[in-house]
Amino acid sequence: MKILVINCGSSSLKYQLIDMTTEESLAQGLVEKIGIEGSVLIQKVEGKDKYIIKQPMKDHKTAIKLVLEALVDKQNGVISSMEEISSVGHRIVHGGEKYCESVLINDEVMADIEACVKLAPLHNPAHIIGINACRELMPKTPMVVVFDTAFHQTMPEEAFIYALPYELYEKHSIRKYGFHGTSHKFVSEQVAEVMGKDIKDLKIITCHLGNGASLCAVKNGISIDTSMGFTPLDGVAMGTRCGSIDPAIVTYLIKELNYSVEDANNLLNKESGVLGISGISSDFRDIEDAAFKQNNRRANLALDIFHYKVRAQIGAYAAIMGGVDAIVFTAGVGENGPETREACLKGLEFLGVEIDTERNAVRGKVREISKENCKVKAFVIPTNEELMIARDTVKLI
Ligand code: AMP
Repeated sequence: MKILVINCGSSSLKYQLIDMTTEESLAQGLVEKIGIEGSVLIQKVEGKDKYIIKQPMKDHKTAIKLVLEALVDKQNGVISSMEEISSVGHRIVHGGEKYCESVLINDEVMADIEACVKLAPLHNPAHIIGINACRELMPKTPMVVVFDTAFHQTMPEEAFIYALPYELYEKHSIRKYGFHGTSHKFVSEQVAEVMGKDIKDLKIITCHLGNGASLCAVKNGISIDTSMGFTPLDGVAMGTRCGSIDPAIVTYLIKELNYSVEDANNLLNKESGVLGISGISSDFRDIEDAAFKQNNRRANLALDIFHYKVRAQIGAYAAIMGGVDAIVFTAGVGENGPETREACLKGLEFLGVEIDTERNAVRGKVREISKENCKVKAFVIPTNEELMIARDTVKLI
């Protein structure tokens, strides 16, 4: 059974075709600059040259049509006809409060995704366009949506209600939702398997540290708290996002420094985080270069702040779970940054976790990185959101 996984952005689209009998990825691709000049599709297949199509793509429907053509292309493709695709799994950022698991797409589900546009104005509209295009091109193929917010719907009220007038929650759905749920679910299930334990007996802290970063407290297999909030701006410092700050700073920017609402939003989302502190880059490789090779003060400060926030969040989650059995690092920085992992765990020896420097010298592979006999184990577990989406899709069809 072959499942096509699609992740639609406003002008880009990532896809993967996965053979679910072996869980092997047959092809991965990226389409960029949809609807603007310079549209391009790049498809990678193991053992073949990159397949690149450069041609105008006026909308998502044109892009998805080209994706299907690339997959069945005689020379560069991996299947002989579209009929081989059993189902399509779509990643959706926001499912609001209604969805605590993945569902088959129907008109009611589409209306619900539409209703969540106000909660995810950058993402949900693009998802809707992508799904509609797929439904038009593949009318007989069942489709599934997998929500980034769904895994966190198990959080208790004390974790997701803000200390604001309660009516804002009741009337306007203002609450913590949390994101990266597919990734937190995947790596927590994976680590339980690696440890040879039932996830229902474990307290796990998952650290998804990429350009966007969030942590999750997974107790007995369910999310009981996570660091992102009403939007993906909350929590630890990120590549360009500020994470948690005193909310009064926002009104100060607007009232005293004459920022427009749009400029303030831009500053918090795109000009802050390690980019804002270092003034160098949002990419951890550039910041680490500046810090380690040139001893750049602000690059060092950006890293220190990032590690401090992650460490503090790990401490908080150990506290609310009454302990922790495993700490997992995943995503771009978590999988590829040994220095980051070591620094985030430094000082947490009192919890019972200590990094083994030799084991920690790993990038992008499943590996236990804590010292032998540590009470709390630390791991690198590469995330695979596409596979998680494909697994859910298979379950539903
Ligand atoms: P993601 O959003 O999960 O794709 O992660 C992107 C982030 O991963 C970027 O900020 C990169 O700096 C970081 N990253 C990727 N490779 C490395 C590496 N080898 N060392 C440190 N950070 C890395």
